[in-house]
Amino acid sequence: MRLFNSLTRKVEDYKPIKSGKTSIYTCGPTVYDHVHIGNLRTYVFEDTLRRVLKAGGYQVNHVMNITDIEDKIFARANETNQDFKTLTAKYEKIFFEDIAKTGIDLHESKLIRASEAITDMQELIRQIPNKYIVDDGIYFDIGNDKDYGRFVTLDRRHEHHRINNDEYDKEQVADFALWKAKKPSEPSWDFKIDGRNIEGRPGWHIECSAMSVKYLGQPFDIHTGGVDLMFPHHENEIAQSRAATGKKLANFFVHAEHLLVDGRKMSKSFGNFLTLENIEAKKFEPMALRLLFLQAHYRSQLNFAWESLSAAQAFLQRLRSWADLVLQPKLGHKRTASINYQSALKVIKHSLSEDLNTPKALSMLSLLTIDAEAYGVDVKKLKPLLAEIDDLIGLDLSKRKDITPEQKQLILQREEARTSKDWSKADQMRHQLKKQGIELNDTDLGPIWYRA
Ligand SMILES: [Zn+2]
Repeated sequence: MRLFNSLTRKVEDYKPIKSGKTSIYTCGPTVYDHVHIGNLRTYVFEDTLRRVLKAGGYQVNHVMNITDIEDKIFARANETNQDFKTLTAKYEKIFFEDIAKTGIDLHESKLIRASEAITDMQELIRQIPNKYIVDDGIYFDIGNDKDYGRFVTLDRRHEHHRINNDEYDKEQVADFALWKAKKPSEPSWDFKIDGRNIEGRPGWHIECSAMSVKYLGQPFDIHTGGVDLMFPHHENEIAQSRAATGKKLANFFVHAEHLLVDGRKMSKSFGNFLTLENIEAKKFEPMALRLLFLQAHYRSQLNFAWESLSAAQAFLQRLRSWADLVLQPKLGHKRTASINYQSALKVIKHSLSEDLNTPKALSMLSLLTIDAEAYGVDVKKLKPLLAEIDDLIGLDLSKRKDITPEQKQLILQREEARTSKDWSKADQMRHQLKKQGIELNDTDLGPIWYRA
């Protein structure tokens, strides 16, 4: 496997710390609203990376946080007059529904809420030597950190300013809050440090450093996230973890590029902010969105357009019709694909192992569907191929449901009607099937059904 490492800005050979194992940490969602489709793009990329590593024989240990303590959460909870736990529970549930629909598999992942890891964060803050306590909280002093600013070229004029916001300017160097002193409008926890109790709550950046290392060790293998998290979030994670232990946080940082809508970054103020709800409201499937994401390389910006989603939906339909051929085994005895499935799979795996080249892997899939349309398929071999493709890119092609026995019977009866030249009866049956979403393609080897 080769992967682009943001730490070195190079594609590198991936070597895990422990042979045969891979530890991955992902910055999870801030659960105060629906995630947008740009966030989903990042999670689909991470899911695919995990799948490819697992299929490559690694035992993958994946951890993701759920940010349920953060400025925007408390602001929203106060605006809407509800307890922050009620708000975060609601959007956490929606988040898990959205990612399941997009084919993201977290059932083997360890998920941790920030609110359940307060003592781990406090322990880490205690270990950081370059911190100072002021009225509104505990700050990380970056003035002493010569390695700070790895991901961006920084304007150091504000070096000795302090920032209390969880998110701040992309180029500004400032000391950031590890712990924020209690505000009347926010929940707070006791924190005994240096002989005092500083009631308050953690800053955002500290949670990822605490949770990743607790479950994955330090350093761990791969830290993932969207490019927008490189600075300040990942920069701060790296700085505070190194300060606490003298060790690096992770060997690889891998970042997914932005998804643009109408050529610009999504924002509620531009009116181009899209969630999965908006996609489904236009009758597109979340899986088509996944396919659209996979059609672009994770390190290129992807400009979302409805026409491209429509094309992805059509491609998904083609892939499914191809996958449905395994449910029509009779075809396999008569027709043979011209592309060798083993070599096709090799091409797909090789593309994915080259810095996750999903567009190249998908173009092989496209060739396979064209081949099947021309020459048919080898059903016995197609079945295991679909399972391997699902393991790698998660399109659920091996989980297709068969048509009902009644529908099969109807196809057979229509064939009989055709044989006895009863065209109107045959047409009527075709119409009946069509109403149930089943279309027929009459070939010289008999009818092939597919779902419209
Ligand atoms: Zn994070």
